[in-house]
Amino acid sequence: MEDMDKDIQATAKGFHCILCNVNVPNKASLDAHLKGKKHVKLSTVRATRKAQVEHSVFVSGIKPDTAQADLVDYFQKFGPVSDVIMDKDKGVYAIVEFSEKDSLQATLAQLEHDMNGLKLRVKPRESKEFKLIPKKRQDSKNLQQILERLTPELCQTASLNEQMLKVVERFQLGENEKKARDLLVELLREVFTEFFPDSQILAFGSSINTFDIHSCDLDLFLDLENTKVFQARAKNSSEQAREGPSDDACSEDSILSDIDLSSASPTEVLELVATILRKCVPGVHKVMVVSGARLPVVKFIHKELNIQGDITINNRLAVRNTRFLQLCSGLDSRLRPLVYTIRYWAKQKQLAGNPSGAGPLLNNYALTLLVIFYLQKCDPPVLPTVNQLKDMACEEEECVIEGWDCTFPSQPIAVPPSKNTQELCALLSGFFSFYAQFDFASSVISIREGCLVPVTSFLSPDKGNGEAMEQERSFGPKLGPVNVLDPFNLRHNVAGNLTERSHRNLQRECQEAEKYCRSLQYQRKSTKGKVWGLVRLFTPRGDDPRDHKGADGGDRPLAITIPFKPSSLPETVRGQLHSAGDGFRMLWFQKVCAAVEAVFQEVLKCSLTHTSIGEDAEGKITGSPVGKSKNNQGEDASRRASSSSDCSPQKSTQGAKRALPSSESSDASVSPQSKRPRLDSYSGPQPDSLRWTYVQSHRVWAGRRKVRRELVKGVMEMDSRPEGSSVEVETQVTQHIVGKEPEDKEPLEFQVQAQVVGGTESTKALIKLQPSADGAGLFQDFFHFLEMFLPKMADTLMGKMV
Ligand code: ATP
Ligand code: MG
Repeated sequence: MEDMDKDIQATAKGFHCILCNVNVPNKASLDAHLKGKKHVKLSTVRATRKAQVEHSVFVSGIKPDTAQADLVDYFQKFGPVSDVIMDKDKGVYAIVEFSEKDSLQATLAQLEHDMNGLKLRVKPRESKEFKLIPKKRQDSKNLQQILERLTPELCQTASLNEQMLKVVERFQLGENEKKARDLLVELLREVFTEFFPDSQILAFGSSINTFDIHSCDLDLFLDLENTKVFQARAKNSSEQAREGPSDDACSEDSILSDIDLSSASPTEVLELVATILRKCVPGVHKVMVVSGARLPVVKFIHKELNIQGDITINNRLAVRNTRFLQLCSGLDSRLRPLVYTIRYWAKQKQLAGNPSGAGPLLNNYALTLLVIFYLQKCDPPVLPTVNQLKDMACEEEECVIEGWDCTFPSQPIAVPPSKNTQELCALLSGFFSFYAQFDFASSVISIREGCLVPVTSFLSPDKGNGEAMEQERSFGPKLGPVNVLDPFNLRHNVAGNLTERSHRNLQRECQEAEKYCRSLQYQRKSTKGKVWGLVRLFTPRGDDPRDHKGADGGDRPLAITIPFKPSSLPETVRGQLHSAGDGFRMLWFQKVCAAVEAVFQEVLKCSLTHTSIGEDAEGKITGSPVGKSKNNQGEDASRRASSSSDCSPQKSTQGAKRALPSSESSDASVSPQSKRPRLDSYSGPQPDSLRWTYVQSHRVWAGRRKVRRELVKGVMEMDSRPEGSSVEVETQVTQHIVGKEPEDKEPLEFQVQAQVVGGTESTKALIKLQPSADGAGLFQDFFHFLEMFLPKMADTLMGKMV
């Protein structure tokens, strides 16, 4: 209770819980928070820790070979010992925990402690304040510190180009760091060849691809191609064993037994690697096999050299793509400063660098490929395409790995220099403009060909072509919001881990950066000592006041986005989009409109009063009455709609006429301003916007979760499915609410406009909402509900289309 009082601080906006680092607006929320899971759990953990501290002593003066059992034996004379924790690196200290508090007093009362001739020093254990510090904050603090040190250095330079060179100088590995890495590789090579005869260990990744930064990991490839067996007893250790005892951990006992490597799984081999690292390589700590990753890996840390290492097997393609990045750096000296600057910008904006390897952000390899692709698309190009490089290679340089052609010249001299003379600062701002207006969702980036391939060409061709469909599903790249094909493994989307959200952030930050690059602050050194150039670009996300714009909903437009996600569409629809070619966008938009209509009319039981096609001159949301429309186009469209794909769970009961754009005109462009050749070469008029007016007389958004829980009670498979994943359940939830709750006296009337965008930004449908009669002030609540519900439900409905 006493602790709890100390946890809570009154603030201007309510209360702050120091323990959980949470703000709450009022007393009621505070009470709820104090009874909530998080607070209760943290309080319990804290109480347990406190009790542990009060029961334990801190012991130093022990030796590396001191056994835990010796300590238990010795301290038991003061009272029952419940635990002894030795420090991880052995031999510096231990914490001895007693079952009773009294034992602690007895131990501390004794001035000298002699354990089998060893002088021990015993102190009370220090109690550290227990507080939840979210990891993210620590990271952003570190980044902030680096930026603070870098800022004055950057501001003193004479030009933006110089700033970019400074970034390289500031981040790249120093000579000693490189030597330490070489040393470790040499050490590992020696040890591994003992156990894996004729094996090789090769470094790849950022330590050698020319994009190294302080503290980057050391990626290693253990090549076992010529190794047949794992030799359990290393040659050296058996010799040493014959000569007499040694304190080398290796010779203490042999490692497991001889193993035929041809029958061992990669994880089994890596387990052996981990054992060798633990037992035979001095200074190596925290060895861990991670087998769930795309490629299983052994991770370790070399403490003295301060290097984090990753060892993989079966990773020849990565060694080769490292050479490719090295070659690109050698071809044009502008690539390095550009990549360093963009990598740091992306890290600061939380767009790249997944903390534990896996995550929804870009990895550095994918980000570097985005830079290379942009440089291939500059006019004139800064870098050649991979196919062009292949043609410049000689016979000896031919290279095929796992069936993929990885041929390119080994030396930059074989490649004619670029005719592009743009300065670094222009290339940097060009990068942001390029991706600020990029249709990520509907294009696949091919570094191999140096062009965009429409995403639809990766979708199944025809429904009839079952075999091809099967092949595509099992072998095609994993399509997502951002698609970047590996230059060699053409079935691998290196950005396949990105989510809609990380894609949105990437594009938004590119747009922000593009805007900033147009300002004088970007281009010119400040004469008044103000920050300029890269510094503002490097402001961490969240620290820039612009990031908070609209956080309170104030100036945020009331629009909901439904992104183009071909991978979650059913096979038949994917086939139709494939056949539609360039017109895929309009065809997809039709499906979205049908789904949006179904969400409002069928699932949420709104009554349709107006509908129309196209946008009016002012772009305002307006409509004409349903059934009274004199507009031929509207009538036509409604008629056609009934023959277009229908995803509704049941036919509309309102008798409203439907309005959908015609499929005949679906090969027309929606983005005349687009300049991209293969995707957007079509043009012509197109109804790329639809409008509806609805009335909602019941608060169908309120209390849905509870009703849903009641409805699916006992249906196991339904129980775990999230909101919006079942049309039937959601329709029933609405029916239940409509049947139970009285009609609103002042029903909400609102307008919906659907629009498709794409070409100069990622393909998506924008659903704008606006109240036209809202006497009871319901619109905000309804909108907040729809923000989550509409995209999810539309997705579910589109997944059912035929
Ligand atoms: P850093 O370690 O500084 O983040 P890095 O380039 O070393 O940068 P890692 O994630 O350690 O990045 O990957 C090591 C290497 O493995 C890369 O340089 C690249 O050669 C290869 N690699 C990484 N991710 C992929 C991928 N998705 N597809 C193909 N190769 C990859
Ligand atoms: Mg690396």
